[in-house]
Amino acid sequence: MEIFFGLVHCQNPECIMRSSTYVEDIDQKKLKFCPTCREELDQLTEECEHKYRNGVNQ
Ligand SMILES: [Zn+2]
Repeated sequence: MEIFFGLVHCQNPECIMRSSTYVEDIDQKKLKFCPTCREELDQLTEECEHKYRNGVNQ
């Protein structure tokens, strides 16, 4: 899901979006999305689902 990393890097030290590494390298037990990125992610997910449903990303 590399689309996550197209977002602006977050300044929250505990936020997964702050990292510049790929998700495979991140210890996901420690890092998580801050509320701001969580909200962005939710919006992005909605947009992607909408696109997939309409075949735009195919
Ligand atoms: Zn964040």
